[in-house]
Amino acid sequence: MIVARLSVRKLDVGMREAFTIAGGAHTTVRNVLVGVVLTDGTQGWGEGAPMPAFNGETQNGILTAVRSVSSLLEGLPVDRPLLWGKKLDQAGLRAGSARAAIEIALFDAWGRAARTPLCALLGNGRAAVHSDVTVPIVDAATAQRSAARLWKRGTTTIKVKVGVDPETDADRMAAVHAGAPRARLIADANAAYDKRSALQFLLNLKQRRIRPALFEQPLPAGSLKGLHAVWKEGGIPIAADESACSAKDVVRIARADAAQVINIKLMKSGILEGRLMTETAKALGLGLMIGGLVETRLSMTAAAHLARALGGFSFIDLDTPFFLSKDPMRGSPLRPDGRYSLDHARAGIGVQPRQN
Ligand SMILES: [Mg+2]
Repeated sequence: MIVARLSVRKLDVGMREAFTIAGGAHTTVRNVLVGVVLTDGTQGWGEGAPMPAFNGETQNGILTAVRSVSSLLEGLPVDRPLLWGKKLDQAGLRAGSARAAIEIALFDAWGRAARTPLCALLGNGRAAVHSDVTVPIVDAATAQRSAARLWKRGTTTIKVKVGVDPETDADRMAAVHAGAPRARLIADANAAYDKRSALQFLLNLKQRRIRPALFEQPLPAGSLKGLHAVWKEGGIPIAADESACSAKDVVRIARADAAQVINIKLMKSGILEGRLMTETAKALGLGLMIGGLVETRLSMTAAAHLARALGGFSFIDLDTPFFLSKDPMRGSPLRPDGRYSLDHARAGIGVQPRQN
């Protein structure tokens, strides 16, 4: 199980509609596909999903980053993640989508060579993985129609993008609640509010008798004191997403009592650090969410394997394959209601590109 070579290419996919968050609109998916070939011919696949509106990463940046380290991995045993992880650390590739794409591809190749599903390489849990679906920043009428359609399809948690202004955001939340009155709601501001507008938004919801289960990243990444204040004064549990990119961040967040839930994303941390973040959050008594950027079924299913293996994720947000106009992957464990059925994956992720 030795790595023979690593390759990377563009993975461009159309979207059904723009995915707009507080930081801007994401209209096309310009991801990257990493391929790993082992000396016995086994292949593995990984995906990196730069999202400029989230953290400024770009496709070209990721292509360059992957190419700069690929030769360092050749000749290493794929089933020794601490060894190849250290090589990537030493090369300065500690986080982000390029690191995630490489790790996902290496784990996939290992799983395929060992005929073991990815979840079994990561832990022995068998947690169910049922994703929410997101209503991005759209007008209230569209939000209500989407919510009604999602509830009908079997989605029980709906995440709503906010962070524009407290009034139109509360209107959008109210429209989603009207469309799916029994759905559990999450509001995600993608770091766009200040403390005052975040609290005003919660007040507007209270007046409409809406209580979200979670308020994700109301304030900028570094505002840990502010997040603590929004939790204390607003009374809705806070999830740290942009603030939580490493296990060290998780410790800082716990010390500041800045969030009650940590959003784990492979695109922020990769698999190894993501697993450490999960264990750290559990040890510190924090709740867990798993999410992603705008990804195809390849890396989203890898994240679903992690959630299944480690367990304890109360919030699952792995829905972006639903926003793509064409599915470039085959082997699809994501059902229309958002459930991932991972039992059919016999080796690795169980998803691969249609065109190798
Ligand atoms: Mg988020």
